[in-house]
Amino acid sequence: MDQRAPNRFATAILILGGILTIGYALAPRTSSSEAIYVAVGVVAVLATVGGIVVHRPHHLLCWVIQAVGLSSIVVGDALWWQQLVAGEDPTRSIADPAYLLGALLIALGFVVRVRETVRFRDLFARVDTAIVTLAGGVVAWIAVVEPLVGGDVDADLLWAVAYPVVDVILLAAVARLLFCSERTSPSTFLLAGGILLFAGADLWFQVAERLGTYAEGGPIDLVFLLAYASMGAAAVDPSMAEEHQVTSVGEQIGRRRMLVLGAAAVLPLGILLVEVVRVEEPRRTALVVPALATLATFVLALVRMTTVVRSVESHTARAGEDRFEALVKHSSDVIGVVDSEGMIRYMSPAFRTALGRSPDDHVHTALRSIAHPDDVSTLTTHLYQAATRPAHATSRFETRLLATDGSIREFEVVAANLVANEVVDGLALTMRDITDRKALAAELSHQAFHDSLTGLANRALFADRVDHALHRRRRDPDCDVAVLFVDLDDFKAVNDGLGHGAGDALLRAVGERIVRCLRIGDTAARLGGDEFAVLLEDDRAPGEATTIANRILEALHVPVPVGDMDLGVVASIGVTVATSGSSTVGLLRDADIAMYEAKRTGKGRVCVFDPAMRDLASDRLSLQTDLSTAVETGQIRVVYQPIVDLETGLVRGAEALSRWAHPERGDIPPDVFIPIAEQTGLIVPMGEWTLRQACNQAARTGGTVGVNVSGVQFAAPTFLDTVADALRVAQLPPSRLTVEITETALMADTDATAVILDHLRDVGVRIAIDDFGTGYCSLAYLQRFAVDVVKIDKAFVAELDGASKGDRLARTIMQMADSLEVTTVVAEGIETEAQLARLRDLGCRYGQGYLLSRPLERDAYHGLLRTHLDEARAAGVEVLAPIVRGEPPVDPTSVPTPAPAFPGGPAATGHPDTLAEALDTSALGPGPVSSVGSR
Ligand code: C2E
Ligand code: CA
Ligand code: CA
Repeated sequence: MDQRAPNRFATAILILGGILTIGYALAPRTSSSEAIYVAVGVVAVLATVGGIVVHRPHHLLCWVIQAVGLSSIVVGDALWWQQLVAGEDPTRSIADPAYLLGALLIALGFVVRVRETVRFRDLFARVDTAIVTLAGGVVAWIAVVEPLVGGDVDADLLWAVAYPVVDVILLAAVARLLFCSERTSPSTFLLAGGILLFAGADLWFQVAERLGTYAEGGPIDLVFLLAYASMGAAAVDPSMAEEHQVTSVGEQIGRRRMLVLGAAAVLPLGILLVEVVRVEEPRRTALVVPALATLATFVLALVRMTTVVRSVESHTARAGEDRFEALVKHSSDVIGVVDSEGMIRYMSPAFRTALGRSPDDHVHTALRSIAHPDDVSTLTTHLYQAATRPAHATSRFETRLLATDGSIREFEVVAANLVANEVVDGLALTMRDITDRKALAAELSHQAFHDSLTGLANRALFADRVDHALHRRRRDPDCDVAVLFVDLDDFKAVNDGLGHGAGDALLRAVGERIVRCLRIGDTAARLGGDEFAVLLEDDRAPGEATTIANRILEALHVPVPVGDMDLGVVASIGVTVATSGSSTVGLLRDADIAMYEAKRTGKGRVCVFDPAMRDLASDRLSLQTDLSTAVETGQIRVVYQPIVDLETGLVRGAEALSRWAHPERGDIPPDVFIPIAEQTGLIVPMGEWTLRQACNQAARTGGTVGVNVSGVQFAAPTFLDTVADALRVAQLPPSRLTVEITETALMADTDATAVILDHLRDVGVRIAIDDFGTGYCSLAYLQRFAVDVVKIDKAFVAELDGASKGDRLARTIMQMADSLEVTTVVAEGIETEAQLARLRDLGCRYGQGYLLSRPLERDAYHGLLRTHLDEARAAGVEVLAPIVRGEPPVDPTSVPTPAPAFPGGPAATGHPDTLAEALDTSALGPGPVSSVGSR
């Protein structure tokens, strides 16, 4: 029923009707009290007319008929009252036709409304109406007609029968309307209710009158009045204007109607039973008609129930199908059917989403026709196998299908064998697009085995590849296996100095260059940090691994543009070649040892593993322990390599170089112990000691002194204080101390470096770039730091032996130094006359090298320098005199006896070579220094 309640006007009419009804019931039974009765009817008629005028109903005609019908009944009431007043018996009077006509008109109004709205065959509403009508008919028959059967057939009887007939007609009309209503509006509810009350009251009246129990103002009249009030209210409620909504679902019924129909089926049966028991034998024959009607009602109700049940069943089944269809249509998986030949019968809409293909266009085409060419045969096999499995068995496989955009999609397919199923008659396929999942899995496994920065293999994958290579080598000894360990030299400086972004860019470039030097089957890996590794497999020419290692070195040398500068990369490479007993771990370790050896012996080179290196590696460890006590026990000392003015041939100063006299192993070169000291941090106290020694020496002997400072020292917070203190203690003018720093050390933490350099310069200490030309630094970068001295690396000087390439290099270096606006250029490692001559030609002012002098012990250097200072003074050249602190001047004759002549001089004997050697060598003619000096 409609949820809406009657509006306030309708409610007001109901209340008014109620009050009048109560008034009527309570009023003393006079003829005038009957006026109240008529008044209620008049109110209902007026309300109906008012409702029509105000609301202008959609079903105007029906309402007009209703108004006329109701009026007719009220006229009947008025006639009844008038006869009462006149003292006549109103029963069977002029009022009867008015009543009957009114009731029939009201029923007609309903019929018209149904006619106006029902435009289809609503068989079920009719059947339901028939059921209710028959039931009403049985009740009316038994209650009113049956007692009259057997009496005289006269006008009275006709009237008496006419009333229940009209009541049943009213009931039928109301039932017909309600059974075809989609919803019952308040107006319809009130109207139908009023009419049913009216018909009911009338039937009751007929019975009461027959039995002689009717009394004016009794409950029957009250029901009549309520019926009027209800009909009046129905016309006042605004919903009376609405068009009647017809239900379209005939065979389905709600619970309410079910109850009504159930009651309609049972009620006559009950009444009939009671009647059979109550009525005496001869009259029982009169029950035949109602019994037949009851039977008809019952049969109709039964038929009706059957249709309901069937309808519910089919509805449920259809709902299930709809749901199933919706599932298939909206599933993100592609659901399809192929026949046992693999021809597509059906594909769900997801087929289009997944592959861009229209499902309809592919019906009757083979599924394999859209498969990836490599998967066609496996797909065919899978489908064949699925079709030959037992009924309903499922199988699972993966296949790749081609989308219309050319992309390849991977599917996981579950195929159910429904060939035996009549409806499906094929394989039901559920195909899930797993392309993204696969890609993700591949990505994850790639990440697990690759270095994210360079995309090269990582350590795990590399070890795995080496493992495999060694396995293969065991089966096929022709298959060579070599491992290269590549470690960038001083990469930390790039990272610290230029930032990690630059470091990463450089590492990527290194990765690319390494790969470019390899064959397809080889593996390049980044093991972490600045460590790379290469696995070379397959048949190789002997020594090819070393060739490739050298090729990598060369490739790395070509400057890499990083940010706004070009960085050349220097690397140390260790090479190891597998032998029959090699293990993966052993091979990697040996390559590492060889790489370390390459670093130890000067960096920027290739070293092939040699079993002896293994001992060296363990040696290193014991050296580390020994070094910690070396300074205190006086095993470390400083020697001085003179720096010569190439123009005058006079010694201007020296570079201080550390030496370690190991008690068991003899002299250990700084190239070996300095890196160890740097690693252990021992370099800081050791460096400080060297610095103080050198300052004292320079103060005592005169001239300048260069002290090597490693990056670690430079970064120590105490460094500036240490320098200041060493100068103060030695009373050495700062300008006579040169701090030698390599390019790479300069690069580390450039801002801090700039600050320290500024401080040193403020104090007056001179700054030299050591090993110039070998580091990562670009010229533009070096220009940031104002340096005083550039020391050209001996590698460039070595190139000067006639070769034009070396010439060009040295010239370039000189030009670079020039553009740095340095005051002093020192060439390192001058070993031959030719080099010396070239350097002079190039305008290089200062030099050091074995040709001029090997590094000298302290006293020897002292003596030498004294001589030179004297010479210089005599020649009128500006000299850097010793600081006189009251100690006796050193006797120049204390210069040690010259050792065998240079260049054949055995530096390894431990005897320091002297400049004098070079000066006095008769076999070689006039030495460079004397020749310089003789100018
Ligand atoms: P460096 O600063 O480049 O020093 C020059 C190196 O070249 C010295 O090697 C010297 O003996 C060598 N040398 C000089 N003339 C010639 C020549 O004509 N031919 C050849 N082939 N070599 C020549 P040394 O003394 O073995 O020192 C090696 C390196 O160790 C030095 O290279 C320097 O970087 C470092 N070093 C030495 N002493 C110290 C120190 O006290 N502190 C720090 N931090 N480093 C030091
Ligand atoms: Ca140096
Ligand atoms: Ca150097």
